[in-house]
Amino acid sequence: MKNNPPLNFDIHQAFTILAKEVETYQVPVIDLMAAQSTDPYRILIATILSARTKDEVTAKAAGRLFKQAPSLESLALLPEEKIAKLIYPVGFYKTKARHLSSLPGQLADLYNSQIPDTVESLIKLPGVGRKTANLVVCLAFNKPAICVDTHVHRITNIWGYVQTSTPLQTEMALREKLPTQYWARINSILVAFGQGTCRPLRPHCDRCIINNLCPKIGVTARRLPDKSTSPDSSRPKKLISWNVNGIRAIEKKGFTEIVNELNPDILALQEIKAQPDQLSDQLLNLAGYQSYWLPAEKKGYSGVCIYTKTKPIRVIYGLGEDVADREGRVLTLEFDNYYFINTYFPNAQHGLKRLEFKLDFNRHILNFCQNLFPKKSVLITGDFNVAHQPIDLENPDNNEKNPGFSPPERAWMDDFIKAGYQDTFRMYNQQPGQYTWWSYRFNARARNIGWRIDYFFIDQNSKSRVKSADILSSIMGSDHCPVQIIFK
Ligand code: SF4
Repeated sequence: MKNNPPLNFDIHQAFTILAKEVETYQVPVIDLMAAQSTDPYRILIATILSARTKDEVTAKAAGRLFKQAPSLESLALLPEEKIAKLIYPVGFYKTKARHLSSLPGQLADLYNSQIPDTVESLIKLPGVGRKTANLVVCLAFNKPAICVDTHVHRITNIWGYVQTSTPLQTEMALREKLPTQYWARINSILVAFGQGTCRPLRPHCDRCIINNLCPKIGVTARRLPDKSTSPDSSRPKKLISWNVNGIRAIEKKGFTEIVNELNPDILALQEIKAQPDQLSDQLLNLAGYQSYWLPAEKKGYSGVCIYTKTKPIRVIYGLGEDVADREGRVLTLEFDNYYFINTYFPNAQHGLKRLEFKLDFNRHILNFCQNLFPKKSVLITGDFNVAHQPIDLENPDNNEKNPGFSPPERAWMDDFIKAGYQDTFRMYNQQPGQYTWWSYRFNARARNIGWRIDYFFIDQNSKSRVKSADILSSIMGSDHCPVQIIFK
């Protein structure tokens, strides 16, 4: 026996629930036979046949044998070979035929041709182990006995109700503690439950009616089918992108609640400003999502990540350009029929100090998209750090020489569009005053003095896959708000 103290498992509650539950399950064949007849001979023979044999095979073999040998006397007249033929293909049919052939003689010698009603007597017969003996005592003689088969042994250990290593130890432990009212029923309930729900390999805990009671000791959870793979791939998906300006900062402002509320299929974040080892479990293991991270080498700077409900086929970290990749700016997921690119474009910075770096990055990202484009749809999202047209910022005239609206940055955006990429938001909305970023200064957000610099672009050939595009300007927590598309 194992030495750990048993858990306080509520056996009464479990049996009350399971007895009702298994009414709808297939009844084990031996119980079926017992319901039809309490003849000890039939129950003993059927129980011997059932060892290591499927129920339907047992039922058919027992039917053939009982036709030829309806009683102990008639069984005595059948040659061993004939019995073997009748019971084939039950497991170990030759050995079982030998045991059945010698059974009438043994019973005559030991018990005056009567089938005994105790476990100790029954186990002296050929082919009768404790499990068979207990079952016969219980079903044929209606006496208290605990039949422990593999399901009873396994499940009572999973519950922590016993902590044993063998079925015999389980039987002894159950004799000590299981209320007698359950002795006769434990086998039929747990065999049905073990065959239907609490299966030996990967039990169906996901649909188990006593999931809340069960401590699942030693259980490996069944992997549920990935609902988001191919069969589901035509479902419209909510895709959201958000520059969070520090994921640890926004966590304190209710980030997980916002994500729960928005419930995106994919959430792309930019400017996470953290390494994964600096993050809470909650952020690393956001319920329902897998996450992929590309932080910058420099701590507290840049970095992107993607949360996705669907497992991608492939993850591409970076652009393959060392300088840009060290800043954690591009993370791509490949799915069945599209690429999802999350990008944090460089800021050209005050005095356009980093303009060349940015334009160089822009060339690389365009090449990257063009390489993917012939294979499947390309969606590219993120903080582009540029407002394209005067309509995309509140004060265009004052910002012509400033980073984010400088002519070279805007010219690159023209080139990007000419190369075949569509600004999804402008497919649906031509209104001014639609911004995604506001300075923290001058009460800019409240006054809507902002810029539209966060985008979802799609390759021209796939634009019909975008069903809507929105700016979620009411979502607070960062100096940017999220942008969203519905994509099919
Ligand atoms: S929760 Fe899982 S392990 Fe526990 S009884 Fe149910 S199916 Fe078996």
